Amino acid sequence: MRTDALTRTFRARLARLQAALLPWRCQLCGAPGQDGLDLCHACDADLPRNRSCCARCALPLPHAAELCGECQRRLPPWDAAWAPFRYGWPLDRLESRFKFGADLAAGRTLSKLWAREFTSLEKPDLILPVPLHPKRLRQRGYNQALELARPLAAAWHVPMRSDILQRERDTAAQTELDRAARRRNMRGAFSLSASIALPAHIALLDDVMTTGATLAECALRLKRAGVRRVDVWALARAPSR
Ligand SMILES: [Zn+2]
Ligand SMILES: [Zn+2]
Repeated sequence: MRTDALTRTFRARLARLQAALLPWRCQLCGAPGQDGLDLCHACDADLPRNRSCCARCALPLPHAAELCGECQRRLPPWDAAWAPFRYGWPLDRLESRFKFGADLAAGRTLSKLWAREFTSLEKPDLILPVPLHPKRLRQRGYNQALELARPLAAAWHVPMRSDILQRERDTAAQTELDRAARRRNMRGAFSLSASIALPAHIALLDDVMTTGATLAECALRLKRAGVRRVDVWALARAPSR
């Protein structure tokens, strides 16, 4: 067994031991949690579900519609999107603790919440978490997309690989760019391992989908390599781009 697999086994055993000794407790308000979940029923009910959204990009819409204005003008390069939550209070508190505060327990809660959600989309052959640039991975110590993807892939019995897609350029500082500039900035940011045969249907997985520029670039990369169907999965969709 490799060292990271051993570490994971150890961490999983430790988490089970802690769960057996300590009661489940809400990570948002401290009230008793639910069985198997560090979140109380009231906070769970407050999480913003993304029930009416664009059929193609999951952009939250006030009423369920076929396509948002942006997708009507220009269809994204992926085939379907799934984002069970909207990025807003109080989910954003758990997400920022997970992403910027090294709170991996918050990440486990988010992953469990996601695993409970339902999608009518066909199961993919493979899940690919969006990779971080190695520099950013060293700074953060973990890839938040991979941390979310690993338990989901196990729960849904879908293979997952984190060695197929690589980030070649660090493109994280995109907030000041407009949409067209973000797309240009993304070009050539990802590469694929040439030696690995790709299946027909892949789901790209990320934590939060904002403009979709990152996922679009990854989807294009996969489509150009001959993948027939590419779906994008995100835990949460930002309400506007
Ligand atoms: Zn609570
Ligand atoms: Zn759309």
